[in-house]
Amino acid sequence: MVNKGSYLQPFWADLFNHYIFCGFTLSSMGNMALTRESLNGHTTNYNKEKILTMLEAKDFSLFSPLQTHSNEFIEVLPDISNCGRYGKDDALEGDAAITENEKIMLLTTWADCIPVILYSPGNNIVATIHSGWKGTYKQIINNVLSFFHKKGTNFEQLYAAVGPGIKKCCYEVGDDFLHYFTESQNILFERRKDKLFFDLSYCVYLQLIECGVKESNIDYCSYCTCCNEEPIFSSYRREKNLFQGQAAFIGMKKKYE
Ligand SMILES: [Zn+2]
Repeated sequence: MVNKGSYLQPFWADLFNHYIFCGFTLSSMGNMALTRESLNGHTTNYNKEKILTMLEAKDFSLFSPLQTHSNEFIEVLPDISNCGRYGKDDALEGDAAITENEKIMLLTTWADCIPVILYSPGNNIVATIHSGWKGTYKQIINNVLSFFHKKGTNFEQLYAAVGPGIKKCCYEVGDDFLHYFTESQNILFERRKDKLFFDLSYCVYLQLIECGVKESNIDYCSYCTCCNEEPIFSSYRREKNLFQGQAAFIGMKKKYE
Protein backbone atom coordinates (compact mmCIF):
# COMPACT_ATOMS: atom_id res chain seq x y z
CA MET A 1 0.00 0.00 0.00
CA VAL A 2 1.15 3.51 -0.75
CA ASN A 3 0.41 6.14 1.90
CA LYS A 4 -1.03 9.17 0.11
CA GLY A 5 -1.42 11.22 3.31
CA SER A 6 -5.21 10.97 3.59
CA TYR A 7 -5.62 7.45 2.29
CA LEU A 8 -3.77 4.24 1.40
CA GLN A 9 -3.63 3.27 -2.25
CA PRO A 10 -3.06 -0.31 -3.48
CA PHE A 11 0.23 -0.78 -5.36
CA TRP A 12 -1.59 -1.79 -8.55
CA ALA A 13 -3.63 1.43 -8.73
CA ASP A 14 -0.69 3.16 -10.41
CA LEU A 15 -0.98 0.78 -13.35
CA PHE A 16 -4.45 2.20 -14.01
CA ASN A 17 -3.93 5.72 -12.83
CA HIS A 18 -5.83 7.23 -15.72
CA TYR A 19 -8.88 5.03 -15.29
CA ILE A 20 -9.58 4.53 -11.60
CA PHE A 21 -9.61 6.16 -8.20
CA CYS A 22 -9.36 3.80 -5.22
CA GLY A 23 -8.10 3.48 -1.69
CA PHE A 24 -8.74 3.25 2.03
CA THR A 25 -9.13 6.46 4.04
CA LEU A 26 -7.14 7.09 7.21
CA SER A 27 -8.94 8.12 10.42
CA SER A 28 -7.72 11.70 9.91
CA MET A 29 -10.32 12.01 7.12
CA GLY A 30 -13.07 11.64 9.76
CA ASN A 31 -16.10 9.42 9.98
CA MET A 32 -17.50 7.97 6.74
CA ALA A 33 -20.07 5.51 8.15
CA LEU A 34 -23.76 6.33 7.70
CA THR A 35 -24.63 4.98 11.13
CA ARG A 36 -21.91 6.75 13.13
CA GLU A 37 -21.50 10.34 14.25
CA SER A 38 -18.56 12.34 13.03
CA LEU A 39 -16.30 13.52 15.84
CA ASN A 40 -13.85 15.71 13.94
CA GLY A 41 -16.02 18.83 13.73
CA HIS A 42 -17.30 18.04 10.24
CA THR A 43 -20.40 16.11 9.29
CA THR A 44 -20.17 12.64 7.80
CA ASN A 45 -21.57 14.07 4.56
CA TYR A 46 -18.82 16.67 4.42
CA ASN A 47 -16.16 14.01 5.01
CA LYS A 48 -17.48 11.86 2.17
CA GLU A 49 -17.67 14.79 -0.24
CA LYS A 50 -14.08 15.59 0.72
CA ILE A 51 -12.97 12.33 -0.89
CA LEU A 52 -14.38 13.50 -4.22
CA THR A 53 -12.88 16.98 -3.82
CA MET A 54 -9.48 15.53 -2.93
CA LEU A 55 -9.48 13.27 -5.99
CA GLU A 56 -10.80 16.01 -8.27
CA ALA A 57 -13.79 13.80 -8.97
CA LYS A 58 -16.54 16.24 -8.03
CA ASP A 59 -18.67 15.22 -11.02
CA PHE A 60 -18.89 11.63 -9.73
CA SER A 61 -21.97 10.09 -8.13
CA LEU A 62 -21.32 8.55 -4.71
CA PHE A 63 -22.96 5.33 -3.56
CA SER A 64 -22.85 4.28 0.08
CA PRO A 65 -24.91 1.26 1.26
CA LEU A 66 -26.43 0.71 4.68
CA GLN A 67 -24.26 -2.14 5.95
CA THR A 68 -25.87 -4.94 7.92
CA HIS A 69 -23.14 -7.62 8.12
CA SER A 70 -24.90 -9.56 5.37
CA ASN A 71 -23.47 -11.35 2.34
CA GLU A 72 -25.52 -9.25 -0.10
CA PHE A 73 -24.09 -7.00 -2.80
CA ILE A 74 -25.80 -4.26 -4.79
CA GLU A 75 -25.22 -3.74 -8.50
CA VAL A 76 -25.07 0.03 -8.84
CA LEU A 77 -26.74 1.39 -11.97
CA PRO A 78 -26.93 5.14 -12.70
CA ASP A 79 -30.46 5.56 -11.28
CA ILE A 80 -29.38 4.52 -7.77
CA SER A 81 -25.84 5.87 -7.95
CA ASN A 82 -26.36 8.56 -5.29
CA CYS A 83 -28.22 6.41 -2.76
CA GLY A 84 -26.71 6.89 0.70
CA ARG A 85 -24.67 9.87 -0.44
CA TYR A 86 -26.32 12.43 1.83
CA GLY A 87 -27.56 10.19 4.64
CA LYS A 88 -29.04 6.84 5.49
CA ASP A 89 -32.68 7.67 4.58
CA ASP A 90 -32.33 6.58 0.96
CA ALA A 91 -29.44 4.14 1.48
CA LEU A 92 -29.93 0.59 0.23
CA GLU A 93 -29.06 -2.35 2.47
CA GLY A 94 -26.04 -4.40 1.52
CA ASP A 95 -22.39 -4.97 2.36
CA ALA A 96 -20.82 -4.69 -1.06
CA ALA A 97 -21.32 -2.54 -4.15
CA ILE A 98 -20.41 -3.34 -7.74
CA THR A 99 -20.61 -1.27 -10.88
CA GLU A 100 -19.69 -1.38 -14.56
CA ASN A 101 -20.51 2.31 -14.91
CA GLU A 102 -18.01 5.12 -15.04
CA LYS A 103 -18.11 8.12 -12.71
CA ILE A 104 -19.69 6.33 -9.76
CA MET A 105 -17.67 6.26 -6.54
CA LEU A 106 -18.53 3.17 -4.51
CA LEU A 107 -17.91 3.47 -0.82
CA THR A 108 -18.17 0.95 2.02
CA THR A 109 -17.00 1.64 5.55
CA TRP A 110 -15.20 -0.25 8.27
CA ALA A 111 -13.44 0.09 11.61
CA ASP A 112 -12.09 -3.37 12.53
CA CYS A 113 -13.85 -5.38 9.84
CA ILE A 114 -12.04 -6.10 6.60
CA PRO A 115 -12.43 -3.78 3.60
CA VAL A 116 -11.75 -5.15 0.12
CA ILE A 117 -11.69 -3.44 -3.26
CA LEU A 118 -11.65 -5.16 -6.65
CA TYR A 119 -10.92 -4.03 -10.18
CA SER A 120 -11.20 -5.98 -13.40
CA PRO A 121 -9.50 -3.94 -16.15
CA GLY A 122 -10.51 -6.37 -18.92
CA ASN A 123 -14.25 -5.75 -18.68
CA ASN A 124 -14.21 -2.65 -16.45
CA ILE A 125 -15.93 -3.71 -13.26
CA VAL A 126 -15.18 -2.29 -9.83
CA ALA A 127 -16.38 -3.38 -6.39
CA THR A 128 -15.97 -2.52 -2.76
CA ILE A 129 -16.76 -4.95 0.07
CA HIS A 130 -17.26 -4.78 3.82
CA SER A 131 -16.32 -8.20 5.17
CA GLY A 132 -16.87 -8.49 8.91
CA TRP A 133 -16.69 -11.91 10.53
CA LYS A 134 -20.35 -12.59 9.73
CA GLY A 135 -20.05 -11.58 6.08
CA THR A 136 -16.79 -13.54 5.81
CA TYR A 137 -18.46 -16.60 7.30
CA LYS A 138 -21.43 -16.14 4.94
CA GLN A 139 -19.10 -15.93 1.91
CA ILE A 140 -19.65 -12.37 0.78
CA ILE A 141 -16.31 -12.49 -1.08
CA ASN A 142 -17.47 -15.53 -3.02
CA ASN A 143 -20.82 -13.88 -3.81
CA VAL A 144 -19.19 -10.77 -5.24
CA LEU A 145 -16.68 -12.77 -7.25
CA SER A 146 -19.54 -14.83 -8.70
CA PHE A 147 -20.81 -11.61 -10.27
CA PHE A 148 -17.38 -10.99 -11.84
CA HIS A 149 -17.37 -14.57 -13.07
CA LYS A 150 -20.83 -14.22 -14.61
CA LYS A 151 -19.66 -11.15 -16.49
CA GLY A 152 -16.84 -13.15 -18.07
CA THR A 153 -14.01 -11.63 -16.02
CA ASN A 154 -10.56 -13.01 -16.65
CA PHE A 155 -9.46 -13.86 -13.10
CA GLU A 156 -5.81 -13.81 -14.18
CA GLN A 157 -6.25 -10.06 -14.58
CA LEU A 158 -8.41 -9.32 -11.56
CA TYR A 159 -6.85 -6.98 -9.02
CA ALA A 160 -7.74 -6.98 -5.32
CA ALA A 161 -6.74 -5.06 -2.22
CA VAL A 162 -7.36 -6.14 1.36
CA GLY A 163 -7.23 -2.98 3.46
CA PRO A 164 -6.32 -2.47 7.10
CA GLY A 165 -8.36 -4.52 9.59
CA ILE A 166 -8.14 -6.36 12.86
CA LYS A 167 -5.57 -9.16 13.01
CA LYS A 168 -4.52 -12.05 15.17
CA CYS A 169 -2.58 -9.75 17.52
CA CYS A 170 -5.80 -8.12 18.78
CA TYR A 171 -8.91 -10.01 17.72
CA GLU A 172 -9.92 -12.13 20.70
CA VAL A 173 -12.86 -14.42 19.92
CA GLY A 174 -14.90 -17.11 21.61
CA ASP A 175 -14.45 -20.83 21.01
CA ASP A 176 -17.57 -20.77 18.81
CA PHE A 177 -15.35 -19.31 16.04
CA LEU A 178 -13.59 -22.69 15.82
CA HIS A 179 -16.91 -24.04 14.67
CA TYR A 180 -17.50 -21.29 12.07
CA PHE A 181 -14.07 -21.43 10.47
CA THR A 182 -13.11 -25.06 10.84
CA GLU A 183 -11.25 -25.74 7.62
CA SER A 184 -8.28 -23.45 8.04
CA GLN A 185 -8.07 -23.50 11.83
CA ASN A 186 -4.35 -23.96 12.14
CA ILE A 187 -3.43 -20.90 10.11
CA LEU A 188 -6.16 -18.58 11.30
CA PHE A 189 -6.24 -19.20 15.04
CA GLU A 190 -3.75 -18.72 17.82
CA ARG A 191 -4.09 -19.56 21.50
CA ARG A 192 -2.26 -17.31 23.94
CA LYS A 193 -2.64 -18.38 27.56
CA ASP A 194 -6.32 -19.24 27.84
CA LYS A 195 -7.44 -16.84 25.10
CA LEU A 196 -8.25 -17.51 21.47
CA PHE A 197 -7.32 -15.08 18.67
CA PHE A 198 -8.53 -15.03 15.07
CA ASP A 199 -6.98 -13.56 11.91
CA LEU A 200 -10.03 -12.20 10.08
CA SER A 201 -7.91 -10.28 7.61
CA TYR A 202 -5.93 -13.33 6.49
CA CYS A 203 -9.15 -15.36 6.31
CA VAL A 204 -10.49 -12.88 3.74
CA TYR A 205 -7.20 -13.04 1.83
CA LEU A 206 -7.42 -16.84 1.67
CA GLN A 207 -11.00 -16.64 0.39
CA LEU A 208 -9.85 -14.42 -2.49
CA ILE A 209 -7.13 -16.94 -3.38
CA GLU A 210 -9.60 -19.84 -3.18
CA CYS A 211 -11.88 -17.97 -5.59
CA GLY A 212 -9.07 -17.76 -8.13
CA VAL A 213 -7.54 -14.31 -7.60
CA LYS A 214 -3.78 -14.40 -8.22
CA GLU A 215 -1.55 -13.82 -5.20
CA SER A 216 0.60 -11.36 -7.15
CA ASN A 217 -2.49 -9.27 -7.96
CA ILE A 218 -3.51 -8.83 -4.32
CA ASP A 219 -2.25 -5.96 -2.21
CA TYR A 220 -2.58 -7.27 1.33
CA CYS A 221 -2.29 -4.55 3.95
CA SER A 222 -0.28 -5.52 7.01
CA TYR A 223 -1.69 -2.85 9.33
CA CYS A 224 -3.88 -3.87 12.25
CA THR A 225 -6.56 -1.23 12.92
CA CYS A 226 -6.49 -1.93 16.65
CA CYS A 227 -2.78 -1.64 17.52
CA ASN A 228 -1.06 0.11 14.60
CA GLU A 229 0.67 3.33 15.70
CA GLU A 230 1.32 5.14 12.44
CA PRO A 231 -0.79 5.69 10.42
CA ILE A 232 -3.57 5.59 12.99
CA PHE A 233 -6.90 3.91 12.27
CA SER A 234 -10.16 4.03 14.11
CA SER A 235 -10.93 0.75 15.88
CA TYR A 236 -14.12 -0.49 17.49
CA ARG A 237 -12.16 -2.78 19.79
CA ARG A 238 -9.88 0.00 20.98
CA GLU A 239 -12.26 2.97 21.06
CA LYS A 240 -15.56 1.29 21.89
CA ASN A 241 -18.42 3.78 21.44
CA LEU A 242 -16.17 6.50 20.05
CA PHE A 243 -15.06 4.62 16.96
CA GLN A 244 -15.61 6.14 13.52
CA GLY A 245 -15.88 4.40 10.16
CA GLN A 246 -13.18 4.70 7.50
CA ALA A 247 -13.99 4.32 3.81
CA ALA A 248 -12.92 1.82 1.17
CA PHE A 249 -13.63 3.52 -2.15
CA ILE A 250 -13.28 2.80 -5.84
CA GLY A 251 -14.61 4.41 -9.01
CA MET A 252 -13.79 4.52 -12.72
CA LYS A 253 -13.05 7.70 -14.63
CA LYS A 254 -14.36 8.18 -18.13
CA LYS A 255 -11.92 6.40 -20.41
CA TYR A 256 -11.98 8.89 -23.22
CA GLU A 257 -12.43 12.38 -21.92
ZN1 LIG B 1 -3.28 -5.63 16.51
